[in-house]
Amino acid sequence: MEREVFDLDVLYVGAGPATLASAYHLNQKFKSDGKDISIGIIEKAKEIGAHSLSGAVLDPISIKELIPDYIEKGFPIESKVKQEKMFYLSEKNKFTFPYIPKQMSHHGCYIVSIGKITRWLGNLCEDAGIDIFAGFPGSELLYKDDRVIGVRTGDRGIDKHGNQKANFEPGVDIHAKVVILGEGTRGSLTKKLIKKFDLMKDKNPQVWAIGVKELWKMPKDTVPEGYVGHTMGFPLGHNIFGGGFLYGMKDDIWDLGLVTGLDYSNPNIDPHHELQLLKTHPWIKSLLKDGEMIAYGAKTLPEGGWYSLPKLNAPGALVIGDSAGFLNGQRLKGIHLAMKSGMIAADTIYNGLTNDNLDNQLNNFEQNIKNSWVYTEMYKARNFHQAFDKGLFAGMYNAGIGLFTGGRGWGFKNKLSSKSGYKHLDPKSVVDNSKYENLKFDGKYLFDKVTNVYRSSTSHNEDQVPHLHIQDTDVCIDKCEKEFGNPCEKFCPADVYNIVEENEQKKMHINFSNCVHCKTCDIMDPYQIIDWVTPEGGDGPGWVNL
Ligand code: SF4
Repeated sequence: MEREVFDLDVLYVGAGPATLASAYHLNQKFKSDGKDISIGIIEKAKEIGAHSLSGAVLDPISIKELIPDYIEKGFPIESKVKQEKMFYLSEKNKFTFPYIPKQMSHHGCYIVSIGKITRWLGNLCEDAGIDIFAGFPGSELLYKDDRVIGVRTGDRGIDKHGNQKANFEPGVDIHAKVVILGEGTRGSLTKKLIKKFDLMKDKNPQVWAIGVKELWKMPKDTVPEGYVGHTMGFPLGHNIFGGGFLYGMKDDIWDLGLVTGLDYSNPNIDPHHELQLLKTHPWIKSLLKDGEMIAYGAKTLPEGGWYSLPKLNAPGALVIGDSAGFLNGQRLKGIHLAMKSGMIAADTIYNGLTNDNLDNQLNNFEQNIKNSWVYTEMYKARNFHQAFDKGLFAGMYNAGIGLFTGGRGWGFKNKLSSKSGYKHLDPKSVVDNSKYENLKFDGKYLFDKVTNVYRSSTSHNEDQVPHLHIQDTDVCIDKCEKEFGNPCEKFCPADVYNIVEENEQKKMHINFSNCVHCKTCDIMDPYQIIDWVTPEGGDGPGWVNL
């Protein structure tokens, strides 16, 4: 098939804080030399920010470095953090921690909407002459002699049987001297790159968590702007990593969410239902009284930390941001690390292009990260997540020791102490769903998944090949149902997977149009036979302020 070919100097995949900060920084460096450089960014969402979701409390260290007068330039902030609390919740009560250690404090940080941040950064990039192609997913990496030379964007107009429709448009091949992958968590091209070049060799496997959140519009003057609350305990209990968050945004909006570690053992855990359970707590109920849920979303986040970062470069390519795993689980923050990883990538590429030794410089990217504060920060939290393998109290104990030992913790003789999250799923841990039985989804306060998905403004053209590929659906019926009870039906926060009966035969039904692109299924499937690939460009969630 004939395809159009574009040539650029530098191509970014994904328009998030990491790639946008990187592209802007690189462009500025060349501009200050009086030189031009062609930079392009492809993004699968129909507009920048529509697939961006995070808590989020931002440490402004990176944006200050990137744009020192960011406040004057209108950087979108919900509020400065004014009050921070940490609670332990039992089913009915809450206990306030008397003290928040400095390393976990949000002092000097801002409550933000990552969707607003990416839109703002995107506008700056476009004003600077950087080309952003929204609605263009990267479907394949292009190689020449095993070096990445570009990306093919997805074809449009293919029906559900794989045939070309009247509106068929082939994807284009975008060639570049270097490709930077910043597709977010479990990026579909990043996954292929990691596999092809064995980039996880001698690393801890990445461990993810899923964050599920709702925005609640409350009556006037009832939400304290700048309030940051974190919870542990109910509803996840002591054996599941994670906890709740509650942030006071402007215009009387509560940002409520729950992070569930994707390394639990009971296959019946349902992260969406856990958030609904959190809302049954009397304290949360009292806060949300008279409010209206206005938005919903879910996304995975990489929790593995420093030891779970892949090798960060392959011939012709770099990996940055969430795609690599730049997140500090101890601080519950990643945006500043993602941005800085992008800015260091830009410095690396700049050195390579100006000294005509690009491939040598790409090999220096990892060392450049190690020479920066990114390493200093992440190394101090290097054992944080692994400690929770032994439960909440062991994790807190180790995290506490780590605060005084530069992150050493206790009992981590071998850094390769962690295993992939899905390997924790234990057929013997299948227990009933009784804790979810009391959830009465009334559509006003507690919501079932379909009602929630409606609030995520998600849509996919139904007449396309589903973007969720299950290698062998017989495994779902013949093995998974018996061994694990089909955990995909539970861990998917969008009700995509359902075992249905047709003609007295069970089969897997995939409602792919509900998919909110969180990637949990690709990560947590116990047989690793689900492959999430990009759907037709522009499809997916339509988030605004998440
Ligand atoms: Fe997330 Fe997979 Fe469900 Fe889509 S199908 S919402 S990626 S778990």
